[in-house]
Amino acid sequence: MNKITHHPSDALLHSHIDGDLPESLSVAMTLHCDLCEHCKHKAEKLTQLCAVKAWKEPSIRDTNDVDFSDMLDGILNSDITDSYLKEKPVEHIFINSLHYELPYVLHRYVDMKWNQLGAVSRARLIEEGETRSNLLQINAGGVIPAHTHKGFELTLLLDGSFEDESGTYNKGDFIWLDASHAHSPKTIEGCLCYTVQNAPLHFTQGISKLFNPIGNLLY
Ligand SMILES: [Zn+2]
Repeated sequence: MNKITHHPSDALLHSHIDGDLPESLSVAMTLHCDLCEHCKHKAEKLTQLCAVKAWKEPSIRDTNDVDFSDMLDGILNSDITDSYLKEKPVEHIFINSLHYELPYVLHRYVDMKWNQLGAVSRARLIEEGETRSNLLQINAGGVIPAHTHKGFELTLLLDGSFEDESGTYNKGDFIWLDASHAHSPKTIEGCLCYTVQNAPLHFTQGISKLFNPIGNLLY
């Protein structure tokens, strides 16, 4: 497996652990941590710190006088199902004669509907107001016209690779771009990405309205 070189910021990781992120970004963090041992380890440490901190908060400390024995009895005497110990089921998606194993956190979207324009296929997953997440599958040789971002654009690469003016991205890379970045991504071997955007792209070359159909597909 290629080495992951693009990771979420510590601030984003904190927000994820605190449960402050919208679902679309939280899914991206889970996808990344499932592929990146480095961030997975960081997230586990943060979760522990978060638990210790929460326990020290006065509102929690004040509950020291509360008798938890009923709750504990309930937990210890409940019927234990071992479903969480079983191997996770595998789901696949089939698109353009290709097939991909769907990451576990995306299983609920297995019946996703695809729209295609040229080399790019898109399935909308989560819509939270302006913030939308999609799965993008781009065929080998596909190019996205040069653009910048009115808001943010998060790309989590799930399969294959792509490159732009800043370099090459591989499976697991977490690429966060905003209005300060302009690029023209292309993929030689093809790729599958999970993306989150909170505004349409702004195309920077040629007559931008000609790119509206691809812009609508990507957002
Ligand atoms: Zn990472």
